[in-house]
This record gives sequence, C-alpha cells and structure tokens, in this order.
Amino acid sequence: MLTKKMQVALNEQIVMEFNSAYIYLAMAAHFEGENLSGFAHWMKLQYREETGHAMKLFEYLHDRGGRVELQAIDRPVSKYKSAREVFQTVVDHEQAVSASIGKLYELAAKEGDHATMVEMQWFIKEQVEEEKSAGKILEQLKVVGDHGVPLMMLDRQLAARGS
Ligand code: MG
Repeated sequence: MLTKKMQVALNEQIVMEFNSAYIYLAMAAHFEGENLSGFAHWMKLQYREETGHAMKLFEYLHDRGGRVELQAIDRPVSKYKSAREVFQTVVDHEQAVSASIGKLYELAAKEGDHATMVEMQWFIKEQVEEEKSAGKILEQLKVVGDHGVPLMMLDRQLAARGS
C-alpha cells in the first residue's frame, strides 16, 4: 500500500507529465505555423511519449491500490522566437522533470517503498534519454542557426524520427 505522502507526490508527477505533453503539443503547433513540419513531427511524438509517462504512473498508482486525482494543467506558451528558444525550453523543462523524479525516488527510499523506488528507476533512466535527445538538437541548433537551408536540413532530419 502506498503512503498518503507517496500517493500525493505521484499524483503531482502525473500532472507534471501531462503538463509536459501539453507544452510539447503547443510547440508542435508553433512549428506547424512556422512550416517546420519535421520539428512539429518530433514534438508530436514527444507529446505522445509524455502522455505515455503520465499513463504509466496512472496505472502504477492503481496497481498499488492508490487513487488517481487528476488536476488542472497549465496553459502552455504558444509562441517562441526561434527553434533554438524552443529547444532551450525543452532542455530546461526536462531537467526540472528529472529533479522531480529524483525527489520521488528519495521520498520512496525514505518511506521504505521499494516498489516505487524500482518504478522510479525506469523514469530516471528515461530522463537520461530525454535530456540527451533534446540536448543534442539544441547543440545542433546552436551550430546551424535559426534559418535558411541548414535549418531546413535539420527539419528534414527530425521528420525521420520513428518513435
Ligand atoms: Mg516525461
């Protein structure tokens, strides 16, 4: 059985994952408006991944006999100055998510909740990937700049993202 504290914290993480999904969906819409369909495609997949993270926690809470209480998600930013600004935002956001997951792991350890510690290990590893993939694109954007043929080439490269 989950402790009350753990249940509250896991519910907060579900909201954070849905917030992430919504932020990335808004970024996809931004890129569609900029005619950068590869970037938009990448963001739509990211949106789906974040929804998957939220649902993984949703199922986990129920598996442990907990109660899911969904809360309001924030209105996302809908306009960005550049692709680079978008990806800087993604990197910053994913670092905040990693910190939040780390706190959940620490709380689970403190509460002696081994099952949640194991569940959080999956998320900790996932965050390494999230930070790596967004960070890589940010670094590419720093080299490529925010317009012209190099940006179009990066857009085409992101269009090839499979999952
Ligand atoms: Mg996530």
